[in-house]
Amino acid sequence: MKRVTYNGLEFEPYITRDMIASRVGELARQITQDCEGRMPLFLCVLNGAFAFASDLFRAVDTNAEISFIRLKSYEGMGSTGVVKEVLGLSEDIAGRTVIVVEDIVDTGKTIKRLVEDLKAKNPAEVKVATLLFKPESVVVDGVSPDYVGFEIPSKFIIGYGLDLDGQARNLPDIYVLAGQAEKLENV
Ligand code: IMP
Ligand code: MG
Repeated sequence: MKRVTYNGLEFEPYITRDMIASRVGELARQITQDCEGRMPLFLCVLNGAFAFASDLFRAVDTNAEISFIRLKSYEGMGSTGVVKEVLGLSEDIAGRTVIVVEDIVDTGKTIKRLVEDLKAKNPAEVKVATLLFKPESVVVDGVSPDYVGFEIPSKFIIGYGLDLDGQARNLPDIYVLAGQAEKLENV
């Protein structure tokens, strides 16, 4: 696979579509087992998680629902640290199993704020499924996603929903800023 360039920055191939598909299948099987009969509500965090949520949701083999929420905390390649809720939740989640679907957990601020907000609405449980997790970047306490596709080092990545200022979300594979690639820990 070739390198790609966005905003003058070069990115190299990192996680292929085949690796993603196989890991998404594994996560879907786990979720199917864990949530059988509970009619989980998948909550896709827009924009970045749309690709992962679409693949994960269709691979889950039990009755489930999906809804969408939009949050923003990032500009360019660094977290602004301020999580703004842009599009709210319309469903009543009281008594429900909610599975938050994220593209990536970086500093952990977004997911922490979102899980706290959701728990205040009295769901039966809130679980977090994230395609990517950068454990070394987490700066807040109590962030440990229930379902993780890949643990990666603190490198900037794009593709499969992840963007650089709105671009690159349509790349079917995941790319890392050139020179930043390191071996993945759990593949
Ligand atoms: P957090 O609040 O720092 O955990 O940031 C989470 C959000 O930042 C994610 O949902 C992404 O939208 C964005 N983000 C974090 N790391 C990256 C990256 O490497 N590439 C693109 N977006 C990222
Ligand atoms: Mg996001």
